[in-house]
Amino acid sequence: MPFGLNLKRFLRGVVDDEITEEEAYRRVYREDALCDDLPNAAPGNTSPAGTVASDIECPICGMQADRFLPFGLDNRPNVQCPSCGSVERHRILWLYLAEHTDFMTRPARVLHTAPEPCMEDRFRDIHGAGYVTIDRFNAFADVETDIKTLPFEDGQFDVILSSHVLEHIRDDRPAIRELGRVLRPGGWAVIMVPYDPDKPTYEDSSIDTPEGRLEAFGHPFHFRIYGNDMAERLAEAGLESEVLAAKDIFDPAVRRRFRLNRNHLLYCRKTGGNPPANS
Ligand SMILES: [Zn+2]
Repeated sequence: MPFGLNLKRFLRGVVDDEITEEEAYRRVYREDALCDDLPNAAPGNTSPAGTVASDIECPICGMQADRFLPFGLDNRPNVQCPSCGSVERHRILWLYLAEHTDFMTRPARVLHTAPEPCMEDRFRDIHGAGYVTIDRFNAFADVETDIKTLPFEDGQFDVILSSHVLEHIRDDRPAIRELGRVLRPGGWAVIMVPYDPDKPTYEDSSIDTPEGRLEAFGHPFHFRIYGNDMAERLAEAGLESEVLAAKDIFDPAVRRRFRLNRNHLLYCRKTGGNPPANS
């Protein structure tokens, strides 16, 4: 999702069930593509990369600032980079890829689901024609497709990036199975989702309105909050996973400088062959 602030404008209509998820995201993407200017910081609040030493910095675009912009349905303060639009989870993913993998230096065949605008062009520069983006509701993605029926060969990708997508899928197991299918044996994936390490996955199919989901899961289009059994869902798709907490992989000075939060990411490796189609 490009800008939560934009989705926030539709929240009333979404909660009242007047605007569907598809309509809301299509409008967000369309308006984002038509708008060259990202939200601006307050005058004097920011400095271009490398000019004045400021308290915080975006690792993706290099913007330094005393303060970032508020973001999200709850308007969290000091979150969004005023230059590239990154929020905490984007910066965590970027820093993880840069510091803990060879993603930034070795071109690969990459599948990126619902690509974040702040990273998409930068990743395409690295991976060229090997970089493929998909989205359900974004006509600007390389392939507009449902993640549960991917139009790709078994083992077509070396790397998959999927951040904050699976919680939007009512029945997530076929989607996870598809991600496992199109990843080559030995390939790896980074998956990010709303995640609580202290509880099992919380989902309830009887909660079936945007308003109910907002209350239960914190977002009108989310179907669950993942928990410590997520490794089992991934294993069903042939993905061995390890949960990494931002607070464990980045020291406090890094977390402060780049405005990271307590997000988790799941680093997955594809084991052996592909799982059976009907597992
Ligand atoms: Zn930035």
